[in-house]
Amino acid sequence: PFDVLVVGGGPAGASAAIYAARKGIRTGIVAERFGGQVLDTLGIENFIGVKYTEGPKLAATIEEHVKEYNIDIMKTQRAKSLQKRDFIEVELENGAVLKSKTVIISTGARWRNVGVPGEAEYKNKGVAYCPHCDGPLFTGKHVAVIGGGNSGIEAAIDLAGIVKHVTVLEFMPELKADAVLQDRLYSLPNVTVLKNVQTKEITGDDKVNGITYIERDTGAEQHIELQGVFVQIGLVPNTDWLGDTVERTRFGEIVVDRHGATNVPGVFAAGDCTDSPYKQIIISMGSGANAALGAFDYLIRN
Ligand code: FAD
Repeated sequence: PFDVLVVGGGPAGASAAIYAARKGIRTGIVAERFGGQVLDTLGIENFIGVKYTEGPKLAATIEEHVKEYNIDIMKTQRAKSLQKRDFIEVELENGAVLKSKTVIISTGARWRNVGVPGEAEYKNKGVAYCPHCDGPLFTGKHVAVIGGGNSGIEAAIDLAGIVKHVTVLEFMPELKADAVLQDRLYSLPNVTVLKNVQTKEITGDDKVNGITYIERDTGAEQHIELQGVFVQIGLVPNTDWLGDTVERTRFGEIVVDRHGATNVPGVFAAGDCTDSPYKQIIISMGSGANAALGAFDYLIRN
């Protein structure tokens, strides 16, 4: 069996695996897509110490770093379930069962898509999901935020300080965000809020040039010219495969303590799949390191 088995090969998993391996313990990492969300990212400007890099480039250097260590890497393998028996057992979709004294779950998350024409075509060409990451790319421009929940309204407030104008599109007749956020939003001079509207299409040429929506009460179709669209309708953690073996929040995020430990002894979690409030590369790497040290502490006590 492994001492530490990491499930997930994004920034959190890679960091956890390296920290574990550096303790000289038997470490494995299983990942469906090594690199995780970083592979889908174009420019990265907030990975401190590196002024600018691109996702695939960072993913490649992360993988190289992992390969420097004696880590058993199992790529393109999907975990299907987790059981605690004598060891912790992780069953893969190919039927194999991996046994380990501790497991670090770092299966990440994915942004929920609106699923309208133009969204996939213009991803990284004006369609964005992370205001902390991509907000500054739209300085002085007009952008839309799709989604009037807390994350949408937080994004709109954040972006209003950077861009020229923000238009919020909410499907329902009312915003769902907390009242304090709505008050703050409505106090801003460069924000327009459209409620009860359905996004129909994100238009563009080589990049985004507008958004088309339908007013749900009249059925009328409208078009706005703008340069960016932030989709803010939820971040979904990749934790369904756990069933109810590990405690999760109502959003599906794994509940962890300060050591990265879950409610199951020996099972730790890190990164975007956990209930940590902010989801970023640098935060995931820190939380992976934290969970690996937590797992090591657990091993020397048990
Ligand atoms: P992920 O990166 O999601 O990795 C999860 C890993 O788990 C993957 O290897 C995946 O294949 C694997 N996995 C999932 N399910 C299973 C399973 N059942 N079995 C086996 N493996 C599984 N952050 C920044 O800091 N700066 C940015 O500029 C930035 N830009 C972004 C742009 C985009 C388009 C996106 C989508 C995200 C961006 N982020 C950015 C956020 C950042 O990418 C994430 O916070 C970070 O990648 C989370 O790392 P993670 O390791 O927790 O999860």
